[in-house]
Amino acid sequence: MTTPSSHDAPAQDAMPTTKGMNYFLEDRNFQFLCESVMGADVFERARPHLTDLGAIAGDELDALAAVADRNPPVLRAWDEQGRRVDEVVRHPAYRRMEEIAFCRFGLAAMAHRSGVLGWPGRAPQVLKYALSYLFAQSEFGLLCPVNMTDSCARMLGAFGSEELKTRYLPHLTATEPDALWQGTQWMTERTGGSDVGASTTVARRGGDGRWRLWGDKWFTSVANAELALTLARPEGAPEGTRGLAMFLVPKRLPDGTKNAWTINRLKDKLGSRSMATGEVTYAGAVGYVVGDLGSGFKQMMEMVNGSRLSNAMRAAGIMRRALLESLVHARQRVAFGRPLVELPLLRSNLLSMLLDAEAAASVILNSAALLDRRDAGAAEARALARVWTPLAKYWITLRARDVAAEAMNVRGGNGYVEEWVNPRLLRDAYLGAIWEGSANVVALDVQRAIVKDRGLEALAAFMAERLGRVVEPAAKPWVDLVKSSLETVIRQTAGWAAQPAAERDLAARPVADTLYHLLAGSLLLAEGQLLREQGRGYRKLLAAGLYLKRWLEPRGPASPPFTARQIEWLEPLAEWRSIDAAALADVD
Ligand SMILES: Cc1cc2nc3c(=O)[nH]c(=O)nc-3n(C[C@H](O)[C@H](O)[C@H](O)COP(=O)(O)OP(=O)(O)OC[C@H]3O[C@@H](n4cnc5c(N)ncnc54)[C@H](O)[C@@H]3O)c2cc1C
Repeated sequence: MTTPSSHDAPAQDAMPTTKGMNYFLEDRNFQFLCESVMGADVFERARPHLTDLGAIAGDELDALAAVADRNPPVLRAWDEQGRRVDEVVRHPAYRRMEEIAFCRFGLAAMAHRSGVLGWPGRAPQVLKYALSYLFAQSEFGLLCPVNMTDSCARMLGAFGSEELKTRYLPHLTATEPDALWQGTQWMTERTGGSDVGASTTVARRGGDGRWRLWGDKWFTSVANAELALTLARPEGAPEGTRGLAMFLVPKRLPDGTKNAWTINRLKDKLGSRSMATGEVTYAGAVGYVVGDLGSGFKQMMEMVNGSRLSNAMRAAGIMRRALLESLVHARQRVAFGRPLVELPLLRSNLLSMLLDAEAAASVILNSAALLDRRDAGAAEARALARVWTPLAKYWITLRARDVAAEAMNVRGGNGYVEEWVNPRLLRDAYLGAIWEGSANVVALDVQRAIVKDRGLEALAAFMAERLGRVVEPAAKPWVDLVKSSLETVIRQTAGWAAQPAAERDLAARPVADTLYHLLAGSLLLAEGQLLREQGRGYRKLLAAGLYLKRWLEPRGPASPPFTARQIEWLEPLAEWRSIDAAALADVD
């Protein structure tokens, strides 16, 4: 039987590092998840690439990310002859990271065409998400351009004219540095990011039939992009979001001349410093209409939703890295004659981080599988993605801030020093919860999905299916806990449509919190059942039970989140030792 154990004696002055670790091979939980969510065949083909990127992320990429973070991009507005060029000069370390992401692994291209990483057809979203999750553990900022380029290709594929597709898709999906054009999405104006309907950018159609855009965009990430999808209001179109059209604005026109937009300056940001975010003015920039003129906002929301999930994935990656750093540190660093990991209060912090990081990884990989089902045309998956996307973005990006902050604490003084990764993780984590919709806005979107799009029915059906797999008798109380909590949420939200907005708004975040835990808990329980059926013990059921008790049945005011018995399971859980059924008794 596995029981908690102590560790090899650490050095007294240990300042442990994760340098050189393979983030894939180190993460037994993630390997299990990849295998179970991808299926054996896809996993076998994916495994060498995951192993490669795991090694790069733990070594070269992390070192490059640290350098790029300290050497942010610079705007070169004019060339030596005084011509306006609006170039963003990226540091060589960032350029090398671009090569790894776009060219070596084809992260932006793989979902659109065959042949990337030798994949016979388009690679599944689960592969893209799994690789990106590893990448995010070392570099957060660059995954914005990767996701934007990927999303631009998706939008163009879905809504673009044949002419636009022929001209631009080969560039967006290129894996050769010279052929690659990065894409982006610029909506936010001074008037607001949440209130997109207040946009003031105008589109005018000239005598030559071409649309030209006039206005300012206040946050323009991937300022170096060659192609931007943007929103503007055609002259005479109605106010609000329904009057907005989507345009593709290239940096260079087909004849090679520079399009009429300028980067006014680059922003000096707290995190994601390696990636250029600017402010842009359209001064009669040529824009090509994408899709239906009256559906710009609706189309853009599809892109935003893709970015929201991508953001949740990056936040989950930050959580995992924060956990890994903390575990490695706490095992080797000694205080009061014992490794930190043996100190009860610290062990409790680590257990909390481990459970949240593990739950987030499950939600993320299953999100990707959901996208694969949606792309294959499953109506059920489309309805589910409508509510799942804001839910995942809402909770995981918020929680990543706490987990990154906790990891900083665990490393003590060194955690506050820029030579270590912790400050970067914390700074990046703060961004995830703001862009692509900040927490309140995204929680209100979960609410809208419930009130208008039957989101709760979709979620409840998914959870019922997962819980139906769980036949292990010892897990029954936790299955019942999920079911009864879900009933409570269903009763509570049934009255939402008739409630005054002020009252309803106040419930948006508490309900989203609970729903996230129910979703994550259902996934963990089903994974626990699977592991058990594979004859690999009760490790995952133990994690599921601890997670659900922690979040759905708190132990009351002023009580610790875990008992003394529960925290003893930290290391067996972290090391993926085989755990037998007796451990489950410690959950209650
Ligand atoms: C580094 C960075 C890069 C960015 N890059 C891009 C980009 O490339 N393209 C782009 O289009 N945008 C980009 N953004 C903009 C980003 O998406 C917005 O900043 C974000 O959506 C919030 O909008 P806002 O700043 O206007 O804040 P506001 O909309 O003014 O919101 C302020 C606060 O009010 C809250 N709030 C708003 N509405 C409600 C409500 N109904 N109920 C309760 N609370 C509410 C919000 O949750 C938030 O906390 C970027 C932002 C950052 C920081």
